[in-house]
Amino acid sequence: MIDFALTPQQEELKERTASFIRDVVIPYEADTRKSAHGPSDALRDDLVNEAKKVNLLSPHIGTEYGGLGLDHRTKAIVFEEAGYSPLGPIALNIAAPDEGNGHLIEQVANEDQKEQFLRRMASGEARSIFTMTEPDGGAGSDPSMMKTIAQEDGDHYVINGRKWLITSADGARIAIVMARTLDANGVDVGASMFLTEVDVPGFAMVEVLDAMDSNAVGGHSVIDFENLRVHRTQVLGEIGRGFRYAQVRLGPARLTHCMRWLGAARRCHDIAVDYARQRQAFGKTLGEHEGIGFQLADNLAEMHACRLMIWQCAWVLDQGDQARTESSVAKLYCSEALGRVVDRSLQTLGGTGITSRTVVRQTYEDIRAFRIYDGPSEVHRWSIARQLLK
Ligand SMILES: Cc1cc2nc3c(=O)[nH]c(=O)nc-3n(C[C@H](O)[C@H](O)[C@H](O)COP(=O)(O)OP(=O)(O)OC[C@H]3O[C@@H](n4cnc5c(N)ncnc54)[C@H](O)[C@@H]3O)c2cc1C
Repeated sequence: MIDFALTPQQEELKERTASFIRDVVIPYEADTRKSAHGPSDALRDDLVNEAKKVNLLSPHIGTEYGGLGLDHRTKAIVFEEAGYSPLGPIALNIAAPDEGNGHLIEQVANEDQKEQFLRRMASGEARSIFTMTEPDGGAGSDPSMMKTIAQEDGDHYVINGRKWLITSADGARIAIVMARTLDANGVDVGASMFLTEVDVPGFAMVEVLDAMDSNAVGGHSVIDFENLRVHRTQVLGEIGRGFRYAQVRLGPARLTHCMRWLGAARRCHDIAVDYARQRQAFGKTLGEHEGIGFQLADNLAEMHACRLMIWQCAWVLDQGDQARTESSVAKLYCSEALGRVVDRSLQTLGGTGITSRTVVRQTYEDIRAFRIYDGPSEVHRWSIARQLLK
């Protein structure tokens, strides 16, 4: 049976994370070390150092590699608190795609690879990227359309192709590269994943895209692989199992997006509630007008539903199940419901909402993409319906 009571350890972590975000991270929101794409690496480094001081860094990675080794339910608590500031996930080293990459490497990589890559990720020393999506008719909603090729060549694979929308690539040190794989005879043996350093010949950053969100260090980029040579020791897991590993990454990664965005939506809601309490219109406070009060009530109801859904899905993951359907349902519902919460909060603020006086404007711009990445809403509906009808 699912238990909703928090343990004393979970209560303590929740309070420690909340006060860290409130007292240390939120003041950094005024820091100007940001570009149009997101916070700079210098700002990230300072935030990571602050999280280290209070022992909150890398809660998602196992203790043997330098993280806190939290289970999925405890992550739900900590990640929601971290999401209360757009800088919180960056400080705790749990922003996408690093967080999902850490989980995948921990599950699939061998010990040498974990020592080489995961330890540096857990300490915050190196940021990582995940390269699946492609422009020009390649992998997108349907990853099986992947065009990037890894050709076996003796002890190496030679990778050629173009990726795009790759989050946090500018300044990253480690990459998980996904490519369709051809064996020495040119036979397609399926998609595979490879671990590589970014600063190597054949790995080219082409462009940082001009995008509507601004919460990722390094933004979203186009990357070219031009005869990128990776040794067979750099294969993540086994050749030909890339799509299976993508699922290992995606289930928990979808859910952690829900956790972080729940915190972000709650922040917007709190700002809207404060405003509705003090702003007067037509002889009473905004909140006393049903048109606003009902919107705030809907916010609370939808956030509550998201929190329950996240907890249930985290519980399933903690039982060792991949929670594929549960995480798909949670991602679909939370991305849309939390988008509505942020939208209503912005509306409650009137003109203030579209200015940068509060964090609501940035959250509104940032959360929109949540309905697209890690599976657009339509793809989740389509796959849930297929499960239902089979
Ligand atoms: C902010 C952001 C960050 C991202 N970061 C990364 C990253 O770090 N690494 C990475 O590899 N990728 C990343 N992506 C890419 C993301 O995973 C893709 O955008 C997503 O998979 C959709 O692919 P696409 O953009 O090619 O859309 P398309 O495949 O062109 O789909 C367009 C639209 O078609 C509709 N559609 C598709 N299939 C169906 C269907 N079966 N039924 C009904 N409608 C359908 C959906 O509405 C969808 O939005 C990121 C994307 C965004 C927006």
